[in-house]
Amino acid sequence: MKKRPVIIIGGGPAGSATALHLLRSGVQPLIIERESFPRFHIGESLSGECGADLRGLGLEEELLRQKYPIKHGVKVFNPHGVPFWVEVKKRCPETNALIPTWTWSVVRSSFDRILLDAARNRGVEYMECDAVAPIKEDDRITGVQIRTAKGALEDHRCEVLVDCSGQATFLANRGITGKKIKGSYVSQVAVFSQLTDMVLDPGSDTDTSLAPGNSLIFYKQKDHWAWMIPLSDTITSIGVVVPAPYFKERKLDKVDFLRDEILTLNPDLTRRVTNTSFVEEVRTISSYSYTVPNFTGKGFVCVGDAHHFTDPIFSFGVFLSMKEAEFAVEAILKHLGAEKEVNEKSFAAYEALATQGQDAVRDLIDCFWEYPLVFTRMAGGKAQDDITDLFAGRLYGESVENNASRAAMRRLIETRRAEKQNATELAVSLS
Ligand SMILES: Cc1cc2nc3c(=O)[nH]c(=O)nc-3n(C[C@H](O)[C@H](O)[C@H](O)COP(=O)(O)OP(=O)(O)OC[C@H]3O[C@@H](n4cnc5c(N)ncnc54)[C@H](O)[C@@H]3O)c2cc1C
Repeated sequence: MKKRPVIIIGGGPAGSATALHLLRSGVQPLIIERESFPRFHIGESLSGECGADLRGLGLEEELLRQKYPIKHGVKVFNPHGVPFWVEVKKRCPETNALIPTWTWSVVRSSFDRILLDAARNRGVEYMECDAVAPIKEDDRITGVQIRTAKGALEDHRCEVLVDCSGQATFLANRGITGKKIKGSYVSQVAVFSQLTDMVLDPGSDTDTSLAPGNSLIFYKQKDHWAWMIPLSDTITSIGVVVPAPYFKERKLDKVDFLRDEILTLNPDLTRRVTNTSFVEEVRTISSYSYTVPNFTGKGFVCVGDAHHFTDPIFSFGVFLSMKEAEFAVEAILKHLGAEKEVNEKSFAAYEALATQGQDAVRDLIDCFWEYPLVFTRMAGGKAQDDITDLFAGRLYGESVENNASRAAMRRLIETRRAEKQNATELAVSLS
């Protein structure tokens, strides 16, 4: 059987973006996806840089055709009704000035299909089947075993296997990467659905913070919050995220739980609810927060949720997956070109870059929950531009290294983490 240059497991945003970038450089990969698209997926609000990347991939026209809501920013409401607003802005390449721009909120079933169709139309090889096991020869991954639709097992060889399997964490679960580590938000549960006729912001010719397509976040207290993401003029994605013990204590089924929460969690959310008949199945997801160490190695690379997911609050997931795809492809092309000889370091630069972005997201979210008032002041004060850059997704290289507020947040949050560690050690020593 022929040896392909690249096989990609998973046809979500990470997998499709990896394929699209490879195709641009003349490499034809194979995507293996086990579900029939369109399929439901949560994760609808896109960051500013995600919008820019989608335009860069030539997908703007198709996304505009879908009439997805235009997102100018995100508004975060605390329990006392004092919101902070982060506008979507890009950096002007010539002057580096911040310029207002916009991105989209998307229906993931159609959005993911658009990405995958683009990859297929541009020449990707595609198989709808289950990836079952990596193929390992000596200490190197050399392919993947699949189960076809008819149930047959087949081996497919490649130079590089790219794991874009999302929360299924294909390679991590089969012991190829380091051992999966629980993330800070592993005890959270998200309960979500869609509602019609929610009261959206009215729109304004002069104030983008009032645009109806913006994403809204409401919180009650630490780790207890809700999102409202318009998906069309009439349908809105609504979700509540709470600590798992709280969800259990309420002893409600998920439909009643969600209904009850959206009517009590935060007054700014409640006033926007006109009916509580969900128009999508009410779903839950838990244990979504983790990190996978050593997520690259001889013959393999993990991209997106396949190696890391922190928490959905500030809507970075799709962006991180697509941006990492771009970085991973740069590393893969180098490898397929000059450096046929693989070693553990082949993808080390990619791994460092992806980790830099994931760390910035984690620190941002931790800092928000540990110091919500400081964070609110930063977002509206002198740190506003820095926060705008972070929320947009300028999380890599010099952009993030020169971001003074990101450095300040890191110092703050590391002090808090050290305090927590000391308290735990003290408690253990006294018990
Ligand atoms: C509650 C919640 C809310 C979220 N909200 C947002 C948001 O508003 N904005 C945002 O940007 N992100 C959000 N996210 C995150 C976002 O959904 C993910 O980060 C994003 O979908 C990751 O893309 P991916 O391509 O890595 O994985 P996925 O989109 O999950 O794609 C993985 C694909 O791999 C396939 N697959 C898995 N295993 C196999 C196998 N063995 N064989 C073949 N195929 C396989 C799956 O079928 C799937 O299609 C949210 C996440 C959660 C949990």
